[in-house]
Amino acid sequence: MAKTYLALGSNLGNRAQYLRQAIRALSRDNLILAISPIYETAPMGGPPQADYLNQVIVLETAWTPFELLRRCQVIEQEAGRQRIIQDGPRTLDIDIVLYERQMFSSSTLTIPHPRLGSRRFVLEPLYRIDPALTLPAGQSIESLWRQVQDQSVRLWSNDGSAKDADFIAAASRLTDSLVAADSLDSTNSELRRLWARGDAEDGMAVVAEQQTEGRGRLGRQWISPKGSGLYVSVLVQPQRAMDPLLGFAAAVALSETVSAVTGIKPGIKWPNDGVIMGKKYAGILVEASKTPRPHAIVGVGVNVHGSFGNAVPTATTLDQATEPLRVDRTVLLDQFLRRLAYWIGIWQQARNAEILANWRVFHVLPGAFVQIWQNDVALMQGRVKDVDRYGHLILDTEGGHTHRVTAGEVSVRLADGGYAPIPH
Ligand code: ADP
Ligand code: MG
Repeated sequence: MAKTYLALGSNLGNRAQYLRQAIRALSRDNLILAISPIYETAPMGGPPQADYLNQVIVLETAWTPFELLRRCQVIEQEAGRQRIIQDGPRTLDIDIVLYERQMFSSSTLTIPHPRLGSRRFVLEPLYRIDPALTLPAGQSIESLWRQVQDQSVRLWSNDGSAKDADFIAAASRLTDSLVAADSLDSTNSELRRLWARGDAEDGMAVVAEQQTEGRGRLGRQWISPKGSGLYVSVLVQPQRAMDPLLGFAAAVALSETVSAVTGIKPGIKWPNDGVIMGKKYAGILVEASKTPRPHAIVGVGVNVHGSFGNAVPTATTLDQATEPLRVDRTVLLDQFLRRLAYWIGIWQQARNAEILANWRVFHVLPGAFVQIWQNDVALMQGRVKDVDRYGHLILDTEGGHTHRVTAGEVSVRLADGGYAPIPH
């Protein structure tokens, strides 16, 4: 696997749509590590032409540099790219900026990209993604970026109307083992029914545009408005006795995905709520049963578009957190399913320490003073230390005692009434 940085550009037709199309196409065969915001920039060189939209993405790829170039050119072709005039307008341009630490030049490919250092439309998004990056020859991106400040670029924001309306159609093409539906009571319930009928094998996923009876932990409702979220469930058939860290593995997969696709570092509130800036953007519900055959269903609900406003003051959405960048649910789903499959694999091998070490990176509660609630009764309060190797929450309570709390039936609130700590 190699890490590579690509620069995308478009100045013809629906520019944002072409960038989105490129990212979707690349996400099908590669792990996305980061996506920059979009910038609008004046054309450099060539005939007079319209302004560009530019973006940089980082991939982990199995393709060699030449294979990558070929694939990128195919994606450009699919976007209707025509090479009539050199440096002329184009629907889509995909340039390889960096590939690992490689440096070479051939008739068809030069890496790093030869004009990288003179183009703010590449350096700006690159710097935003990775301010500490250095080139293989040693220069820092920061020093190059400082030298092109005379060129103008502006952060670009679309009008918000470009919702990913084709989500279900696009999702249904992702893999054969995914069922995509316009509306379901709950994706967990649908997957359970498919499994009970013998119509679902290990790894099968169900996704819906809307849930009419979305569920969260402890029988709570999960509000799942049409077209606004990612509602997906995945079937797991454990190869050994069911271990409760499955939800932790799913939370790691989700957090890593959100981090790569949005550029913000999300948090996890024990046991496995997704939080951003003290508000909840995602929930994970694992429903496991031993009968008639052991299986577990991992359900995830992510608030992506729109906002909840005052209706649910503790809730937020990815779009609210990532403005002006808008999240493409197809890319989010594709990348999440990949990472979930990886982390379920780790979980199947009982590599619990690895799951917890990666989970802790996102955990927002350590240091917070919290109350543990069960059925509307506050059971205890104390300061969160950590989780132990079973995923139990370790609390320091009054009088120097230590308590371990299991996730099953309880929920956590901050002692001051807040939902989750805001990082500083
Ligand atoms: P532009 O230079 O405006 O991106 P093209 O996309 O038409 O124009 O690229 C011209 C040629 O540049 C391609 O045919 C490709 O072989 C070559 N090339 C050399 N190095 C790179 C690179 N790092 N990434 C992409 N294309 C490259
Ligand atoms: Mg090019």
